[in-house]
Amino acid sequence: MAEADGRTLGDEEVAAAERVIRSGMLNSVWGTEARALERELTEMYGVRHAITCSSGTAALHLSVVAAAPDPGDEIITTPITDFGTVAPILAQNAIPVFADVDPSDGNLDPAAVAALIGPRTRAIMAVHLFGAPARVRELRELADEHGLTLIEDCAQAWLTELPGGALAGTAGQVGCLSLQQWKHITCGDGGVAITDDDELARRMRLFSDKGWDRAAGRSHAAFGLNYRMTELQAAVARAQLAKLPGVLAARRGTAALLLDALKGLPGVRLPRPGGHAWWLFPVVCPDGDAAELAAHLAAAGIPARAGYLGEPLNRAPVWEADIYGRSRYPLDGYEPNPCPQAERMVDRTLLVIDWNENYTSAHVELIAQEMMKFRARP
Ligand SMILES: *Cc1c(COP(=O)(O)O)cnc(C)c1O
Repeated sequence: MAEADGRTLGDEEVAAAERVIRSGMLNSVWGTEARALERELTEMYGVRHAITCSSGTAALHLSVVAAAPDPGDEIITTPITDFGTVAPILAQNAIPVFADVDPSDGNLDPAAVAALIGPRTRAIMAVHLFGAPARVRELRELADEHGLTLIEDCAQAWLTELPGGALAGTAGQVGCLSLQQWKHITCGDGGVAITDDDELARRMRLFSDKGWDRAAGRSHAAFGLNYRMTELQAAVARAQLAKLPGVLAARRGTAALLLDALKGLPGVRLPRPGGHAWWLFPVVCPDGDAAELAAHLAAAGIPARAGYLGEPLNRAPVWEADIYGRSRYPLDGYEPNPCPQAERMVDRTLLVIDWNENYTSAHVELIAQEMMKFRARP
C-alpha cells in the first residue's frame, strides 16, 4: 500500500518550536505556552480545568492521585488497553481489578463492572478503545451510586462523541488525553487531564509540580513528582490542536467509506460509527480467524494486526514479576480476574487496521478489496 504517513507536522510546528527557543524560556512554570494550551483545551472541551503534563500515562497518574485511593483500594479497569492505564494504579499502591468487555467493541461492559464493585473500590477507569465511545454514562451512574470516581482514558479518543454529542472525557470526573507520537495529534510525548472539579484540579496540579504551591513560596503542600510539560511540547501541541478538527474529519470520512464498502461482508463485524474518532479501524471476526485475515492483509501491504496486544493485561507477565522490590504489598496473593470476552478478542477475534488522516479513497478501496478477497477464498 502506498505509504500514507499520518502525521500533520509542518511549518506551524516549526514556527512554534522556534518561537519558544528564541524566547529563551523552555520551562512551563515561567513560560506562557503550556498555560495557553490549557486555556485552549478548556474551551474546546467546555471544562473548567485542563492540566498539561509530560505524557498520557502521567495524566492518568494524576487522575488516580485525584481519586485518592488508600493503599490496597481497588480500581476497576479494562484488560484491553495500553499499560499506561494500569501503571498509575500500581504507582499509587492500589489494586487493578479487571472487568470484562463487550465483545463487539472491546469497551468495558458496565454489567461486568457493576458485579466487581466492593467495599474497597475507589474508582473506575474506562478507556474509549480505538476511539469508540465507551458506555461512560452508565458507568458514571454506577460511580455516583457507589461514591466512586470515574476516570475516562481518552488517549485514543480525541473528540470522540458520546451519544447526544458531548465529548468523551466530560462524562467522568476526570478525562485524560495523550499527545504521544502516534495519537491523533502529537508533540512527541505529552498529556492532559481535564476536569470540572476545582478540588481534583488542585490535587492534580500539585502532584504534577512536586507538591509545590507556587503561590505559597518554596513550600511543599503535598507529595508529588515532576510531570510538567515543557514549553516546546506545549507550543507544538497548540499548533497540532488547531489541526485536530481536520484530522478527525479526514479520519471519519475515509472510515465511513470503508464501512460502506464492507457492508454485508460475511464473517466480519464492523465497528459502529457513532461518535467514533478512528484512532484505528477495528474489526471483529466472530469465527476467530482474525490472525489469518491480518496475515492476508499484511501480505498485501496493508498495516493490519490481530489482537492489538500480545495478551490482555489481566494475563500480562508483570503479575508474576517483582513490582516493589521484595514486597508484593498490596498485591500479596493478587490474581487478576479472568476476562473471557477480552481474552477471546485478543487471542482470536480482534483485528486492527492502522488508520490516519492521510488515507485516500484508493487506500480504502485496496483494504476493502483485500478483505473481500480473503472472504471469497475457497
Ligand atoms: C497511549 C495510551 C496511553 C498512554 O499514553 P502515553 O502518552 O503513551 O503515556 C494510555 N492509555 C491508552 C488507551 C493509550 O492508547
